[in-house]
Formats: sequence, structure tokens, C-alpha cells
Amino acid sequence: MRSLKIGVIDLVCKNPSNSLWAKIMHANLASIMPQVVATWCEQEGHTVTMICYTGSEDLVKELPKNVDLIFISSFTQAALLAYAISNYFRSRGVMTVLGGPHARCYPDDAIQYFDYVLGFTDRRIITELLNNCTPQRPAGKKMCAGKQPASLCGVQERWKFIEPTLKKAPFIKIVPILGSVGCPYTCPFCIDSTVTYQALDFKTITSDLQFLLTKYKRPYIAWHDPNFGIRFDESMQAIASAAPPKSFRFIAESSLSILTEPHLNKLKENGFNALLPGVESWYELGNKSRSAHITGTEKVKQISEHINKVFRYVPYVQTNFVLGLDSDSGAEPFELTKRFLDYSPNAFPGFSLLTAFGEAAPLNLEYQKAGRILPFPFHFLNNHLAMNVKPKNYDWVDFYDKVIDLTEYAFSPKAIYRRFMHTQGFTPKWMNVMRAISSEGWGRLKFYRQVRQNLVQDRSFRKYFEGESQQLPEFYKNIIKKDLGVWWQWLPDTALSHNAYAYLQKAS
Ligand code: SF4
Repeated sequence: MRSLKIGVIDLVCKNPSNSLWAKIMHANLASIMPQVVATWCEQEGHTVTMICYTGSEDLVKELPKNVDLIFISSFTQAALLAYAISNYFRSRGVMTVLGGPHARCYPDDAIQYFDYVLGFTDRRIITELLNNCTPQRPAGKKMCAGKQPASLCGVQERWKFIEPTLKKAPFIKIVPILGSVGCPYTCPFCIDSTVTYQALDFKTITSDLQFLLTKYKRPYIAWHDPNFGIRFDESMQAIASAAPPKSFRFIAESSLSILTEPHLNKLKENGFNALLPGVESWYELGNKSRSAHITGTEKVKQISEHINKVFRYVPYVQTNFVLGLDSDSGAEPFELTKRFLDYSPNAFPGFSLLTAFGEAAPLNLEYQKAGRILPFPFHFLNNHLAMNVKPKNYDWVDFYDKVIDLTEYAFSPKAIYRRFMHTQGFTPKWMNVMRAISSEGWGRLKFYRQVRQNLVQDRSFRKYFEGESQQLPEFYKNIIKKDLGVWWQWLPDTALSHNAYAYLQKAS
């Protein structure tokens, strides 16, 4: 077997960014799988250079040089940058591999631009690829392990690749860790709803946590589990046996059904500082929030009481909502969310516009069958820049009016002040303010207003949203061009569009 020179690129973002949020937080959003792949490649005897692109580096300068093979990990929003980088490397005779969420959601599109496209990836897939890789053109080869791996490299093994990325984070340094993959719940819009739940090795978790105490005092650690705490007692035991209580500061995404009072007590004891439960909707998906039999106002009150209870144990809570679900109609769902913000003023609201990522989730097939998917370029598929599912019960202008109204309400100076005053602790207080005034709150608001204006004033823009035209409005094309900068020239001509119905065609 020949020894290869390998580059691994983790694209945390899709364009250069100077925002406060990007500077402080992007390095903390590195993915685990690129670090695992880099580790596996080294363990197989190859030489690896890894970079995590956070938006503040000069990507051209930082790209791995003199390599035989490049792995790129990308979410769909960074897919066009990934395609351009792949094209650049292939023009120099380097083989390219795409992994990460985009490869799982749009494999048939990605094989046009990469030699290999990886679905679920385990050590066997990586070894097979490294031992047999040859350029695959014109169409690349798809490889998939069939399910998520039962074990992954822990923090100690990945440290060599974690440390340089965290050096880029100026204040808070958050180490990514994984305790499980998949989820036993079946929220039909979620990529993890069809992935079998598997807990990873609890002993590795304990030794990784002990290892981190040799690197940082009270380290910040983010669990990347889709739904943390399914095997709650074992997870708490793994943490408790690593070090005395409050040795760590944890962040996790957990469903409200897990966040019972006895569990919250344990979470507090073990140093959980931030939780991100999903509410999603006032009318559906109640099973994961222990509100299966109630909807509307009653659900708002119950969820709000639950969130307020969570705040008695944990200083930072983000509640996630999906806007534009089929169960929503009229003003009520938006008004209910505003009432929730009144009752739970300290909760940071995370709003997502309903988005169907290719073949990620079962519901996407239903949207495709109904002809409701719009071909927005990948660059805008990040849950807020575009909604690629035509809403069932709203006209576009009406929908954007309501989204703008809710966002204004959630990030008004009054709401920001109220959130600040009700939140305990320096970091949570300032994190909320920064997120509200940065790209997430005010930045989105500015963009939504612009889209709304275009919908009213520009007939061709509106026709694209109605599915009556496939001609991408210049407004969007210009954003891609500006964001990609020097990479625009490397973007393949065909990459601005994709087959938005590939999943349906494959399934029928
Ligand atoms: S509970 Fe969360 S992770 Fe699990 S399927 Fe639902 S949205 Fe996905």
C-alpha cells in the first residue's frame, strides 16, 4: 500500500466572515467526523494535514499543499464552496472526497463534482477507499457503510486535530464530543429520525473527560448527540465517574421529554450550563416534549412552565422552532410563539424556516410528491436564507410578513433587554445579546425584509418562489458570487442548480 499525502477540510462556514458571532463561535462549531477521518487516515499510515475553515482564514493560503487526496466535509449551505474547492484540486490531479451532511442529503448531485461521495462512514469504508482510490470521472463513486459506526475515535485520539482549531477561538473554547448517534424519536423532518439510536462507549467518554481536565480548567464541552441523554443514567454515571461535580461545563441538545425535574437535578449537579430543546410546533411533534395530547395555547403554557423550570437548574436555554410547517395556518402559530417569549423571556429563540434537505428525511419525499420543492441553490439552504418548501397554508408575502413580525418581536431592544435581565451569569447574558444583534437576530431580519420587498416589487423573483420559473433571480446569484469571492471562478457552471426532485425520482 502506498503512503498518501491527504488533506482534510472541515467547512464550518461558506464565506469569509467578520461578524462577532463568527469570530467568537465558528471555531467552536467544528464537526467531529472530519477529525475522526483524519485520525483514521493517520492510523492507516498516511500523512494528514487538516484545516477547519471558520471564515476568518485566507482559505487559498491555508489549503493543504502537495496532496494526493482531499476529504471535504460540508453542510449543504457550504456545498458550492466545497464544489469549487474540489474542482480546483481536481484540475491539479488531486482526487477529492465529499463527506458530511451534504453528501448524505444530495449524493447524486455531489458525484458530479467529486471522485468519491461518502454516506455513513466507518473505518472499513475509509480503509477501502485509501487502498483503492483512483480518479472517478466523469461521475464519482458513492460509498456507504449502511449505518452509523458503532465506535468512533474519542477526544484523546482526535486531540491533534481539535487543538489547532480551538486555538482560533479567542475566548470560549468548546470541545466537541459524542455520546450517541441517531435518535429513537421519529420527527419526520429530521435527518436523525431514520438513524437507529446507538450509544457509544461510556468508558471512552469517561477517559476523554479526564483527559480534557489536563488541558483546560473546567472545560466547555458540547455534546454533538442529536438528542442527548436517551440513556440518561449511564451518561450521568460516565460523567460523574470522570471527576467531582462541576468539573465541566456542558452544552447539549435534548428533547423536553428527557428534561424531567429529577434529570434536571442531575444535569445541574454534573455541570450542564446550556440546553437546546426543540419545541418545533404548537400543533404537532408533541411526543418529544411530553405534550402529545395538547396543542395551541394550552401547549404554550405547559412548555413555557417546563422551560422556566429548566432555567431553575441551567442558566442558558435555547428553544428551537420550525416556521412554516403544514400544521400551521394563519396568525395563530406566530402569536403563540410571541406569548411563549412573554412567558419565558430568558429563553433564546432559535427559528428555522422549514427546509427539505434532499433525501435527508422521510417528509421530504412527501413534499417532492406534492411538487412543493423549490430549487434554491444549496448556498441558501441553512434554515433561514431560503425556505425551499412552498408553504401549504400561506401566501409567500403573508408568510414573510409573519416571520418578520415574529423576528422583530423576539429581537426587539425590549426583548433583548428583558432576556438580559432575566438571564443569570455573565457568559449567558452576553451570549444572548451577541446572538441577537449579530447575524442571527438583526442580520436575518434585514435579509427577510429584503426578500419580502423583492417578492412584492419583482415579478420574476415572485415567479421563482411560486415555482413558475426556474430562472434564479440575480439577487441570489450576486450573493453567491460575492460570498465565494475567488472561488467563484472555480465553481462548475452546472453547480448553481440541482435536481430538486432527485429523491422522488430515485424512490419511484
Ligand atoms: S427528537 Fe430531535 S433528534 Fe430526535 S428525531 Fe426529533 S428532531 Fe430529530
